[in-house]
Amino acid sequence: MSTYRAEYIWIDGSIPTPKLRSKTMIVNSDKDMPTYDDLPIWGFDGSSTNQAMGSASDCVLRPVFSCPDPIRERDSLLVMTEVLNTDLSPHRSNTRAACAEAAARYADQEFIFGIEQEYTFFKGMRPLGFPDHGFPAPQGGYYCGVGADEVFGRPAVEEHLQRCLDAGLDISGINAEVMPGQWEFQIGPTPALDVSDQLWVARWLLYRVGEHHDVNATLYPKPARGDWNGAGAHTNFSTKTMRSDYQACVDAAEALGTRHELHIANYGFAIEERLTGLHETCSYREFRYGVSDRGASIRIPWQVEKAQKGYIEDRRPNANMDPYVVTRLIMETVCGAMAAKA
Ligand code: ADP
Ligand code: MN
Ligand code: MN
Ligand code: MN
Repeated sequence: MSTYRAEYIWIDGSIPTPKLRSKTMIVNSDKDMPTYDDLPIWGFDGSSTNQAMGSASDCVLRPVFSCPDPIRERDSLLVMTEVLNTDLSPHRSNTRAACAEAAARYADQEFIFGIEQEYTFFKGMRPLGFPDHGFPAPQGGYYCGVGADEVFGRPAVEEHLQRCLDAGLDISGINAEVMPGQWEFQIGPTPALDVSDQLWVARWLLYRVGEHHDVNATLYPKPARGDWNGAGAHTNFSTKTMRSDYQACVDAAEALGTRHELHIANYGFAIEERLTGLHETCSYREFRYGVSDRGASIRIPWQVEKAQKGYIEDRRPNANMDPYVVTRLIMETVCGAMAAKA
């Protein structure tokens, strides 16, 4: 019998953008390393997280994904959970349940997603690298930069990368972004529920690692007003057919145009602050797709056109989007259009 520390993580009911919460359960198990399906459901006080009234405050946590805890290391694990009502139906804040349904319905398409998570470190009230008064040099040298005058927060970024790898997440890369203090990591490509569960855990690790470096990460889509880039979560995806057929890639881009407003409305709070049309990606009022076009809503990478197969990039989602919602909508919209065509 061993004793484990299981960190149960959940998404709360904060408005307009939910936050992550977590608490620790001590678990005794005779397993070598328990995983989420060995772990019990748990509860929490929903009246403290905008998920319940004080008079009926209990909400339920059901484990859905787990990995080794790279912060505590020995005998510990991180557990992503979904929130249920006490009758075990999905709570109104639970967006995973609908994503799971869509993933099951369209399983034959073999969707995979790669999400580019941009974020911005803050120190106090200002982005890391912004002086106390005035502004840093204009954007130009920061993206993928090197040197103490170009990058801010690298120790935290490196630690986050290492912890994601230690946790066994499918992290596929990192880079410094266009605005000082702004960075990106990518998760995937992997199916909708995997990429989403892992992205939420990677976000939790980002905040947690920030505690070690006295910086806090924000996913706010427009963290500095003016001529500074926003923060997005470009969502790359493919179906089995797209991975072997270019026309299917074009069809998927066309399909996304048929429900543009619905997607924009569900791609993260304050998307109109970020998609102004002035910084990469066109205005939220417009929809277009194109090869290599970073000004488009949907980009078809040049290698995909060349190889005549592959994937496409939905550039519209904000950094603060919910991956359960974004991947579900993409599956429903792309498959809905296919069904209509057939
Ligand atoms: P960008 O040039 O837009 O910055 P990145 O290298 O940051 O591109 O991200 C590209 C993403 O595309 C990665 O997350 C990767 O996992 C994903 N990707 C690559 N191939 C596929 C594919 N066939 N299906 C879905 N996603 C894919
Ligand atoms: Mn990228
Ligand atoms: Mn980027
Ligand atoms: Mn991109």
